[in-house]
Amino acid sequence: MTKRSGLSTVSVHAGEQRQKFGDAMTDPIFCTSTYTFETNDDVRAFAEKKTEREEYGRYGSPNERVVERKLAALEGGEAAVLFSSGMAAFVGLLMSKVSAGDNVVFFDECYHRSREFCVKHLSRFGVESRQIPTGDYEALERSIDDRTKMLVSESPTNPHLSVVDLERFIAIARDRNVESMIDATLATPYNLRPLDYGIDYVLHSATKYLGGHNDLLAGVVIGSAEKMESVRYLRGIMGAVNSSMNGFLLQRGLKTFSLRMQQHNQNGATLAEFLHDHPKVERIWYPGLRSHPYHDIARQTMKGFGGLLTFTVKGNAETASRVIDKVEIPRIGPSLGGVESLIEQPMLMSYFNMTPEERAAVGIEDAMIRVSLGIEDTDDLLDDFKTALDAI
Ligand SMILES: *Cc1c(COP(=O)(O)O)cnc(C)c1O
Repeated sequence: MTKRSGLSTVSVHAGEQRQKFGDAMTDPIFCTSTYTFETNDDVRAFAEKKTEREEYGRYGSPNERVVERKLAALEGGEAAVLFSSGMAAFVGLLMSKVSAGDNVVFFDECYHRSREFCVKHLSRFGVESRQIPTGDYEALERSIDDRTKMLVSESPTNPHLSVVDLERFIAIARDRNVESMIDATLATPYNLRPLDYGIDYVLHSATKYLGGHNDLLAGVVIGSAEKMESVRYLRGIMGAVNSSMNGFLLQRGLKTFSLRMQQHNQNGATLAEFLHDHPKVERIWYPGLRSHPYHDIARQTMKGFGGLLTFTVKGNAETASRVIDKVEIPRIGPSLGGVESLIEQPMLMSYFNMTPEERAAVGIEDAMIRVSLGIEDTDDLLDDFKTALDAI
């Protein structure tokens, strides 16, 4: 692959051998737990790192490797390590980088399970987590001390779509000699390239836009070959690997990654404009809109703004529920980033176990609706939301 290749060419071809096993067009699915050696000399050569090959399924498989190379190429990084889910990637990265006595500092708008892992579980191993209000760079800087190991944030965040000023974020990290990680699941490498800013690790839930078809779970961390070595090593101990079938599905999903993102971006931008101007909509969060508090940073850092948007309707929780029950194209469910549109009311979906006060503290309103726009035709989605809003 040449450096000049566009993202669609990279999506289709990067990481793959040109002539494949059995002369097949596509990669065969390796259904094996172990890999055999022809002679003991081969074992010795492998142990002495003189040959590159597989050994045992928990350390990787050909179907994972091809996806890892493709994802590293898409992100513009040296090495990618694939995990069995986004959360496995998050846990795996942090567990391989922090030790008792260290602390991690993170912007507080984040996937609720990521926060839970930091606050409730890292703490059990003597690692402190410091939550900072998203976008408060002075507080971020103040909270760093000589035991801070990593600055962590999502960009854009979920569900408020706040966007991190990566230049400021990385300047603070570098100044204080702290590593940095961005969970760019919502942005994808189509819309945001954190490594170009000098961020050390990019994390994705590949379950979302990268897989793109609501048919698999996977996660990935991408960074320099040197920094990723300990992450890969710990993954081999954790065993949070993908079946070869899962690797194959992710590789297949990635073929259309760039094409899909164009439609997600278009659907997001068009629906956001429509909802912004609709009299029954109270407020909308979409970084492509001028009204979004992080619009300027989003415009500077992102190519497009994705298919996820959050809005509140005028009324209460029931009004929002009625809209959700009225739309016909989006299915009701958690997750995002697939070809099928999904819709949910955060207070009922991910935040049901919180008290109203706890929900208010993390900015979840009763009349809030989160939509992950798929790749359906823009006009059909517009009609669907128009009809649903007219009916309430
Ligand atoms: C979904 C999600 C995760 C978790 O990924 P899984 O694949 O579900 O484990 C982490 N971060 C963000 C931003 C997500 O949307």
